[in-house]
Amino acid sequence: MGRPMPTPIGHALAGLALALAARPLGESPVAFAQGARAARIDWRLVALLAGLAAAPDLDLVFQPHRTATHSLVSIALVTILAAAVTGKVTPSPGRAWRLAVLCGAAWGSHLLLDWLGADTSTPRGVQLLWPFSDRWFISGWDVFRRVERRHFLHPETVGQNVLAIAQELAILAPLIWGARKLRRKLRS
Ligand SMILES: [Zn+2]
Repeated sequence: MGRPMPTPIGHALAGLALALAARPLGESPVAFAQGARAARIDWRLVALLAGLAAAPDLDLVFQPHRTATHSLVSIALVTILAAAVTGKVTPSPGRAWRLAVLCGAAWGSHLLLDWLGADTSTPRGVQLLWPFSDRWFISGWDVFRRVERRHFLHPETVGQNVLAIAQELAILAPLIWGARKLRRKLRS
């Protein structure tokens, strides 16, 4: 069984922070700067980036875990794919690339959080350089607690995972708040 860390909630929160810091889709830089829709949150962008930030762990279904979908190559592929898709639906190349870079950044945030997390099973970390190298990378800082997926309903497991989610919220909530604040600042 794979070793997820942090939880999908933690990963989605990182995507949310990114979406909140970014200019809403379809809003012109001028309107954004003027704060015409200062309070507006682009929920489509939130859903897209939160989903992409959690998506690399879909490899838990296929195995092996934390290789191809957790590599720098995967970030590049997601960015190129997003640019190709949005390039077809939007006439503005600038807008397509901006969204593509946000998609790549959301995917990349997953790799960053995993790299910062705790991992007790071997090999530890993520294969950042797949397919060029099978080396595993991890910071060793254990910023995020380990999450348990075995015996999912066991009280001890539930307690451990609730604690992990609470810690992710404690770490990422200020980041989300900061993202909102940064956006307001950029407008003024
Ligand atoms: Zn992961």
